[in-house]
Amino acid sequence: MIGVTVLGSTGSVGVSTLDVVSRHPERFRVVALTANENAERLAEQCRRHRPLYAAMANRGSAARLGDLLRGMEGRPEILAGVEGLEQVAALPETQYVMAAIVGAAGLRPTLAAARSGKRVLLANKESLVMAGALFMRAVAEHGAELLPIDSEHNAVFQCLPADFGAGLQQVGVERILLTASGGPFRDWTRERLASVTPEQACAHPVWSMGRKISVDSATLMNKGLEVIEACWLFGASPDRIQVVVHPQSVIHSLVQYRDGSVLAQLGNPDMRTPIAHALAWPERLESGVAALDLVGIGRLEFQDPDPVRFPCLDLAYQAARAGQSAPAVLNAANEVAVDAFLARRIAFLGIARLVDRTLQALPLEPVAGKDLDGLIDIDQRARESAEQLLRRGVI
Ligand code: NAD
Ligand code: MG
Repeated sequence: MIGVTVLGSTGSVGVSTLDVVSRHPERFRVVALTANENAERLAEQCRRHRPLYAAMANRGSAARLGDLLRGMEGRPEILAGVEGLEQVAALPETQYVMAAIVGAAGLRPTLAAARSGKRVLLANKESLVMAGALFMRAVAEHGAELLPIDSEHNAVFQCLPADFGAGLQQVGVERILLTASGGPFRDWTRERLASVTPEQACAHPVWSMGRKISVDSATLMNKGLEVIEACWLFGASPDRIQVVVHPQSVIHSLVQYRDGSVLAQLGNPDMRTPIAHALAWPERLESGVAALDLVGIGRLEFQDPDPVRFPCLDLAYQAARAGQSAPAVLNAANEVAVDAFLARRIAFLGIARLVDRTLQALPLEPVAGKDLDGLIDIDQRARESAEQLLRRGVI
């Protein structure tokens, strides 16, 4: 029996993970579930999946969860705060940790899973963008297994040979092609983009996801974060990664080899496929995803992304090339910008402007040798700088 902790179990990826896990009760046991504030949803999940532990980021919510589960037979032990999240990521009863918290808040618990040598199923791309070197070192030093959940990276992983860790050149890889749906505003003019509302940005045409990643998909910052994520996961330089807009989202990504071969992974756009892949690897498990109907789909189209209407992708490439503190600053400024957009403090096009201004405002700092606190300090200062720009009303 494999013990599984799901960090962020009440979110979109968390719910899909529990769906796949519960299809295989002979193979997996849910050891711990976690959420930010939604005690009601976590209580329901506890009743259904009967974990040994439940953790909430916030103490008040943890107390509420305790009330909701009062009298439950086999009630889970309830933990609170970031320490509680770290603790359930490192439990001896757990072998696999699904890292599906959104944003920089996921870094500490995801790192705790890596440091305790777990199989880490990584959905939380922001932790790699913010602390790639530290995270990859923790994985290597503690013998953790890192399996990508982001559909593009999971696709690339499936298209690479098992020994890709020797170096992409070594195994004959020329390029990684990351596909992008293009988001809900793929064909919109810049004039129309100026008045996009949070509701419109959160209604993704293909994927049903949390609000933050939905906005990131609409600005193409999600693809930018994924370029940086791919650099770390596959040891690639940004110039070997090309983004291709593919509206049908059937090809999840591709790997181009020296001899002209291009390998792709295809499937219906449903996160349960990469989740089942990472849970079963190197085997295969039934995921609940319907079989792909290529004739029904009919056409697969491809375009270049437009850097004028969607400047966030280029900002991310620039940060990836600059390295050092730039990706962490990009990520922090983007989180502030997305929150401000969702709170209607700035317009949709203001997201890219705020990220750009924050990157310009802060000098590049070396990150080699920085520990977790050093990286969190960079993140905090970038947030403050972005907030200051917002307050000055220059966005
Ligand atoms: P979501 O908003 O639906 O869920 C986020 C989860 O994190 C929830 O369980 C929430 O309670 C928890 N959480 C939020 N803030 C927290 C905090 N401060 N402390 C502790 N827990 C907190 O998000 P999602 O769409 O499931 O995405 C999760 C992660 O997976 C993101 O990093 C996203 O980029 C990545 N991802 C998602 C998808 C997708 O299809 N949804 C695809 C690829 C990658
Ligand atoms: Mg993705």
